[in-house]
Amino acid sequence: MYIEIKNVSKIYNQSPNNNQKALDGANLSIEKGEFICLLGPSGCGKTTLLNLLAGFEKPSEGSITIDGKPVEKPSIKHVTIFQNYGLLPWRTVQGNVQLGLESLGLDKKDIKEIADEYIELVGLGEFKKHHPYQLSGGMQQRVAIARALAVDPDIVFMDEPFGALDALTRMKMQEEVSNIWQKKKKTIIFVTHDIDESVYLADRIVIMTAYPGRIKSIINVPLARKRDRTHPDFLRIRDRVFAEFEMKQKDTIEYYL
Ligand code: ADP
Repeated sequence: MYIEIKNVSKIYNQSPNNNQKALDGANLSIEKGEFICLLGPSGCGKTTLLNLLAGFEKPSEGSITIDGKPVEKPSIKHVTIFQNYGLLPWRTVQGNVQLGLESLGLDKKDIKEIADEYIELVGLGEFKKHHPYQLSGGMQQRVAIARALAVDPDIVFMDEPFGALDALTRMKMQEEVSNIWQKKKKTIIFVTHDIDESVYLADRIVIMTAYPGRIKSIINVPLARKRDRTHPDFLRIRDRVFAEFEMKQKDTIEYYL
């Protein structure tokens, strides 16, 4: 397997006599090119698991390997997209997308060409010369996605990337990420607490529960893309995921997750 997470626990020492078990005995194998969603309520260890995979944190117990090698530090081949976009306000869309490429030591012409290709991919061709403050939240997140993909990473980590967007923009962005994933087939690990989002996007949904953070179960989503959110098969899987959280659909997800 491409990514192997074996018996991984993470304990944070929040104060001298308060140790928080953020993640408890997690086991998970991920294939290259898979789209994985980590789904669960706040505090179940989703971000902790992502940070361990990305090499920002070290496990207290257990091991994580990617492509057979232990994860020891962040890698240039792995990129993370956060909720707050992380764009440089003084740079244009083009300048922001070129950012990662500049650190790869490519020549100027290649940097421009590659950046432009990814700006087109996320549909921002006409906004190349705009600055972030001139763009909507959804457009800013598209810039962040273009910047992340332009360096041709092996893995893309996404930590609630659409959490700050309104519901309609969020759906549009889900569709776009799904399209891009189909074109580029990157391994994506995507953190969310939104059940619909996970059923729309994932090959497999890793269901997590809190206190301590644990992987409760894994649900396959064998639906062809482009997915139809109203199709009976979509709704059936959605129901299964709701059932994993021991809740009925009529309960609001915001209440529980
Ligand atoms: P989620 O992403 O699912 O909301 P997190 O991984 O952020 O969950 O957090 C899991 C638990 O670990 C929470 O109880 C949180 O308070 C705790 N935690 C996370 N990061 C730290 C940290 N750097 N220091 C101390 N405690 C932390």
